[in-house]
Amino acid sequence: ESLAADTTTTAVCGYCSTGCGLKLHVRDGQAVGLTPETDYPVNLGMACPKGWEALRVLESDDRATVPKRRSSDGDLVELSWNDALELFCSKFKSIQAKHGNDSVAFLSTGQMPSEEMAFLGALTRFGMNIRHGDGNTRQCMATAVTAYKESFGFDAPPFTYDDFEQSDCLVFIGANPCIGHPILWERVLRNKNNPEIIVIDPRRTETAMAATDHVPLNPKSDLSLLYAITNELITNDWLDRSFIREHTHGFEQLRSHVARFDAESVARSSGVSADQIRRVAAKIGSGKAVSLWWTMGVNQSYEGTRTAQAIINIALITGNIGRPGTGANSITGQCNAMGSRLWSSTTNLFGHHRFDLAEDRKKVAEALHFPVESIPSEPSWSYDRILEGIRNGEIRGLWVVATNPAHSWIDQDDARELLNRLDFLVVQDMYESTETARHADLILPAAGWGEKEGTFINSERRYGMLKKVRQSPGQALADFQIFRAVAHYWGLGERFAEWTDPESVFRIMQRASVGSPCDISGIEGYEHIDRCGGIQWPWTAADAATSNDNIPPIQRRLFADGTFCYADGRAKLIVDEITPLPEVPDDTYPVMLLTGRGTVSQWHTQTRTSKSPVLRKLYPKDPYIEIHSSDAQSMGVFNGDLVRITSRRGSIVAAAMVTPTVRPGQAFMPMHYETTNRLTLSHFDPHSRQPSYKNSAVRIEKA
Ligand code: SF4
Repeated sequence: ESLAADTTTTAVCGYCSTGCGLKLHVRDGQAVGLTPETDYPVNLGMACPKGWEALRVLESDDRATVPKRRSSDGDLVELSWNDALELFCSKFKSIQAKHGNDSVAFLSTGQMPSEEMAFLGALTRFGMNIRHGDGNTRQCMATAVTAYKESFGFDAPPFTYDDFEQSDCLVFIGANPCIGHPILWERVLRNKNNPEIIVIDPRRTETAMAATDHVPLNPKSDLSLLYAITNELITNDWLDRSFIREHTHGFEQLRSHVARFDAESVARSSGVSADQIRRVAAKIGSGKAVSLWWTMGVNQSYEGTRTAQAIINIALITGNIGRPGTGANSITGQCNAMGSRLWSSTTNLFGHHRFDLAEDRKKVAEALHFPVESIPSEPSWSYDRILEGIRNGEIRGLWVVATNPAHSWIDQDDARELLNRLDFLVVQDMYESTETARHADLILPAAGWGEKEGTFINSERRYGMLKKVRQSPGQALADFQIFRAVAHYWGLGERFAEWTDPESVFRIMQRASVGSPCDISGIEGYEHIDRCGGIQWPWTAADAATSNDNIPPIQRRLFADGTFCYADGRAKLIVDEITPLPEVPDDTYPVMLLTGRGTVSQWHTQTRTSKSPVLRKLYPKDPYIEIHSSDAQSMGVFNGDLVRITSRRGSIVAAAMVTPTVRPGQAFMPMHYETTNRLTLSHFDPHSRQPSYKNSAVRIEKA
């Protein structure tokens, strides 16, 4: 009876970008339990294990509860918030004074509310003269952002989740929603059209096993395969010619480019039969509502941007966009990756404006009531360039907020060595046990999901509410309050006087959004978002004025009228040459290592999910590697044996899982284990600067 709730409220989950609504049962101001929200339009009463365990992970001995600094003998010692903030400011200011303003940088996350991202970006870039900062969204969504921007003129995922249920043909490329986005997969299962489900993936993933057609291509042959499919669509005239004529540029260039990718030659390079290539093209060509979905198999690739654009091209030339059940649809990874994309002020200026356009800087300055001279004209360095800056001494101080590069960054040993080179590393996190915190000179304890408020934006562009339903432990503060305190101690209190609480910042964001494709000026405020079950962007003042009681339709998609975000309203069909694999298996390293999500129950670097006993039980504690039975046999390895995996970067031990999910010559390791990225190759998509996590050559031997 003591756990009986006296009230309930709904908030969106803080893990993946699905953005499920969770009903929180609260007693005396503290959440005592949760259940999935049955009325929320995203998850319709469902939640995955991570969501169910969202409260449990807040209770952990690893929580950072008091500021700590590294003493000269390497121990962490407690200090007051006052001393911590004075140390923060004096250290960073002295580094800037000695080595220039650009010698301090920050790395942030896709898992803070939009208002906190907006605050961090504005504080650093428009106040503290910190020019360089990037988010861990560089590791997951940068490719999709770049692809959309170049193709549509704006980073605008066009879909709504209802499209999973409306398609008659769904194509998943490098995506495994069965475990990566399990509630979205449930939406697929609700599809009543008996749809074709095509899965293009080297691995026989859970989603591939559920497909009507699994296309098991060779790793990173996806771009040539997509060009071959496009060639088949054109050759057979499975096209929407009026859509191409009226709404796109570049069809002739596309046609002549893909003509070189005939099914027979691509069959040889991709390992997919010419018949299957033609069959997939025919299914796409004959579909009435075809949707194409991609995630990290595409984004985390050295040619990811062009691959994503090859997917976009297919949707455009077949007219599969802007209608129910269609779209070229990037599913976001983190709960607020889109908030980072729109509001972090790193690659894009506040609200997805451009740093290099004077009128955009003026607009943003006016919306923020800041002097226009405070808005820089250049974007930030990308994540990899910031790390290179540490290597060559350009970056001396680093502020890491709610992310864990010492685990998640590619070529991990190198990344850790770079963190050790810093003069001063601040880690602001919920937990003081992260791999990155081990390198920190100062730890700032932060509140987590459920302990603060703000908005998350999910994959279908829906703003949803994060609510405060618990007190944060000890002296941990909401990131928002930490940013506010930093502003004060840095001497910027007056400039940020309006930034008093998250909803005040939301109003600033609304002002900055006016007239842009992500205009949210029609939203009345947090209560309105809550009342409507989330609100998708855009929702303009004009939308509000012309709708019934300012209630947006539950499901909205972009480009229904074929008008894209370029000045002439047309989308671009973009093609490029195929680039060679950066690391090809050879006699010394004969196996291609793939990495990715391994389970529905764990999240990223397990920073949070490892704190739940239930989630831990659902996943092997020690690392494992999937290998094919023929490879296992030639190594004399049986299921469960320990094997040593060695790449040119490092060497680790894991248990062999002998399985047909991978083909001979390939192996797969989940990214959740601390050691996986000791093996991965430091290589990047040249357009998005996203790391290519999924193609490292390794050697596997019995340990
Ligand atoms: Fe929903 Fe994703 Fe949270 Fe699971 S982790 S409950 S799928 S939002």
